[in-house]
Amino acid sequence: MSKPKFAMYWASACGGCEIAVLNTDEKVLELDANFDVAFWPAAMDVKYQEVEAMEDASLLVTLFNGAIRTDENEHMAHLLRRKSKILVAFGSCANEGCIPGLANLSTREDLFERAYSGPSTENPEHLRPQTIWRAPEGVLTLTPLQPVVRTLDQVVEVDYHVPGCPPESRQIAVVLDLLIAVVNGAAELPPKGAVLGAGESTVCDECPRSRDVKRLTKLSRIQELPSLDTTTCLLEQGLMCSGPATRSGCDSRCPNVGAPCIGCYGAAPGVLDQGARLMTAIASVVDEKEPEAIDRVLDGLPDPAGTFYRFSLAHSLLRANRAALAETP
Ligand code: SF4
Ligand code: SF4
Repeated sequence: MSKPKFAMYWASACGGCEIAVLNTDEKVLELDANFDVAFWPAAMDVKYQEVEAMEDASLLVTLFNGAIRTDENEHMAHLLRRKSKILVAFGSCANEGCIPGLANLSTREDLFERAYSGPSTENPEHLRPQTIWRAPEGVLTLTPLQPVVRTLDQVVEVDYHVPGCPPESRQIAVVLDLLIAVVNGAAELPPKGAVLGAGESTVCDECPRSRDVKRLTKLSRIQELPSLDTTTCLLEQGLMCSGPATRSGCDSRCPNVGAPCIGCYGAAPGVLDQGARLMTAIASVVDEKEPEAIDRVLDGLPDPAGTFYRFSLAHSLLRANRAALAETP
């Protein structure tokens, strides 16, 4: 009997999600034993034309990682949606835009200017990448960059969400176990739209650090602290920790080793906008009354947009700055 087909695709992303899947070790062998791996560009050579030739809905499940930044990303999102019964937004870029989504603070022209004519680039002729290049051997094409980064569910319908930058390998194994159990008739899929491989509370709820009343009179970087208390809440020690607004599921991996959570599991359940929730959380613990004193505390946050919306800007209520959005057709 033929096995159900599995696919994994990498759009605008760093590749970390692919590595995280491989980090599940022998689970990859179980995946291979239970599925026919039909398309996985990072692991095998299958051409786009071969996917286009597949019957619609012939892939049982596709894990799609990466944001939608280029025309090619968008084409593949629509193609894989058509070919997949179950389309999973896999990892922070596909779900929220992640670090690539911070580019939405700039227009496309600003990005090119910085990358190709910035202070660290020697480019006296102000060359820019071309989308078409005619060489003697033939025509080369480069997919155009779209005006803003979008998440997968801003482009096509998504069935399930697996958060994380990247998703924890232990949690990926849980998701793969679920898929394997479903194909063997031992489990049923959760309701459409569910978040898989994550918790239902916040990183703070998983964090073993002791908490008292949070009173913030100074925000510091970790290297500015004379010493770090190994058991007390990092936010109470004046470090910007995103635990209060971030979905659980990683077992508070960063605070466990003394590093503040930077929010990679995305918005906590029921939170519409992770950055707004984080701002509210910080504002509520600033222990100053006078505007100048409050400003001094907030001066400890040199990059507020990049701190509060590090992973979630593209899927936030803000989405992008107005000039970038205005470029969107
Ligand atoms: S703010 Fe950070 S350190 Fe404090 S309890 Fe939450 S996750 Fe832990
Ligand atoms: S603690 Fe925060 S940043 Fe670290 S892995 Fe967990 S969700 Fe991501």
